[in-house]
Amino acid sequence: MLWHREYTRESSHLRVSERPENKQRWIIDEEAAAVVRRIFQMVMDGQSVNGIARTLRAEQIPIPSEHWKRIGCPVRANSYRDPYAWSATTLGYILKRPEYLGRKVLGKTVCENYKTKSTRRTMPEEQFVFEGAVPAIIDEETWHNVQRLRETKRRTPKRSNAPNRLTGLLYCADCGAKLTHHNSLVQGKYIDDAFTCSRYRAPMEDCTIHYVATQKLEAAILSAIQRISWYVRNNEQEFVQRVRKASSLRQEEAVKDCRKQIVQAKKRHAELDGLVKKLYEANATGKLPDKHFSRLLAEYDEEQAALEASMTEWQGLLDNWNADRVRMTEFIDLAKRYTDFSELTTPILNEFIEKIVVHEGNGRGKQRRQRLDFYFNFIGAFEVPADIVTPMEQEEERRQQEEQAEKEERSQVLAQVRYERYKQERREFTARKRAGLLTPEEQAEEERRLERNRAYQQKQRDKKKASQPEKPRKRSLKELAKLDGADLTPEEAERLAAHRQKKAEQHKAWRDRQKSAQPPKPQQRTLKELARCAEAGLPLTLEEAERLEAHRNRKKAALQDLKARAETDPVAAAELAQQRAQQSEAVKKSRQKMYADAAAGDPEAQARYERMLAARRENYHRKKQAEAEAAQVS
Ligand SMILES: [Zn+2]
Repeated sequence: MLWHREYTRESSHLRVSERPENKQRWIIDEEAAAVVRRIFQMVMDGQSVNGIARTLRAEQIPIPSEHWKRIGCPVRANSYRDPYAWSATTLGYILKRPEYLGRKVLGKTVCENYKTKSTRRTMPEEQFVFEGAVPAIIDEETWHNVQRLRETKRRTPKRSNAPNRLTGLLYCADCGAKLTHHNSLVQGKYIDDAFTCSRYRAPMEDCTIHYVATQKLEAAILSAIQRISWYVRNNEQEFVQRVRKASSLRQEEAVKDCRKQIVQAKKRHAELDGLVKKLYEANATGKLPDKHFSRLLAEYDEEQAALEASMTEWQGLLDNWNADRVRMTEFIDLAKRYTDFSELTTPILNEFIEKIVVHEGNGRGKQRRQRLDFYFNFIGAFEVPADIVTPMEQEEERRQQEEQAEKEERSQVLAQVRYERYKQERREFTARKRAGLLTPEEQAEEERRLERNRAYQQKQRDKKKASQPEKPRKRSLKELAKLDGADLTPEEAERLAAHRQKKAEQHKAWRDRQKSAQPPKPQQRTLKELARCAEAGLPLTLEEAERLEAHRNRKKAALQDLKARAETDPVAAAELAQQRAQQSEAVKKSRQKMYADAAAGDPEAQARYERMLAARRENYHRKKQAEAEAAQVS
């Protein structure tokens, strides 16, 4: 089956001696080797084994048996029908052969029974490995990458050609499980193309979703690869130092851990030895029955066997760490080999990335942040210092800003257009509303709109009110008027006064309006004028005569009342006296004025004077007559 090599004619046997001085010689069959290299590359390109088989068949590339037949080599199986029918099994064998790596492995099967010649496959630890025993046709890294890629079973989703190339690269940071790909087809479109932790929602397991969208993940991977490559090319020295430091730290820790475990295991192993010894002694002296002895012995044996296995494993790890140091130069070569990182091709992905550890994300939408730890081939986990900004990132940043600005501008323009249209519609609507041309439905709609507006505004007011501190309650003007001065703050008093003044002004204005609305009343003559007229014998209207009479009666009654009170009340007496004094003074003044006027030649005054004298005379005669009559009677 070793079909890319040909034996020299003298040794057609398929056995190779373990002695290095063996005469057998291996030569590379270049034609076959080209096909093998191509198959490995196709796997690195992310193709499935079945896909590769289809391609090879379509290109009419002969299967190994056919190839041997054509070049005249001994063929084991020649019962095939189709010389181009590549199978997944054949490819599987090719892809895992260590010989392509230059490694010869012997003792892959062992004969168990020399009579029946039945054989069985051996475990790796039973085989003999000779590194570099045969010329290699595949480089070590490709070979290992292919083995790693083939470890994960990838399911091709329905209605899709190939499984996602990221499957198998992603690991959950919390539970360590691989992430699985999800893809839902909704109305002819793939949505929710993403990875989630395979233990999320799994029965009996408990992990969170660890959701990461494929598109974003690919962008992140590409940028991580771009970043590290740029860093390697531009700061090679620094890169080397950092990787050394990080890897030695990691190794130290792991080695320390491993050593500790080995020491503990050794201790327990010795303990178990002692226990077994005691067990034998107890059994020999008859202290321990045979039944218990065999059970305990079996248990101890089992534990010891397990410990031995673990110790071998740890020791192996320790040896490996010492031997397998970080292969930095290989990574540097890789980073320098590629020149175009503009897109994430499957070979780039598979050559650079060993695995990615996905942490649980935080936040939603644009705020979502998720940590990804990248493990690169050759160097393991590595992070370019955060302060380094590569030209590609600067370019990307600039592009994003431009895009954002463009987007904003576009949306602003659209918003302006929408607003103009809305305004135009409203204008037309208002015009129709004013003209009363609205249909009943439109009217109802408009009322609903207004109602909604009012409700909204009320709500806003309430909200504003609720947000402000509560003011002390303002007392109403009515309450203030009732209290009237007592217990008012200066501010309240001012308010009340202002209110009253306003009311008074309003009332005055009202009165003026009322007055101006009524016809003007005839001028009423004063009581003084009336009295003078009556004295002069001038005619008075009936109403005027009544007024005068009523006035005089009031005066008389008041005088009488005062006189009556003056008899008992000294205050009233004083008032009466004062009134009398005033009256006599007034009479005196008016007489003097009358004399003066009469002397000055005022006819009216003279007439009054005459009347006064006549009245005095008459008074005198009446008095005299009354006295004479009184004397006669007596
Ligand atoms: Zn998980």
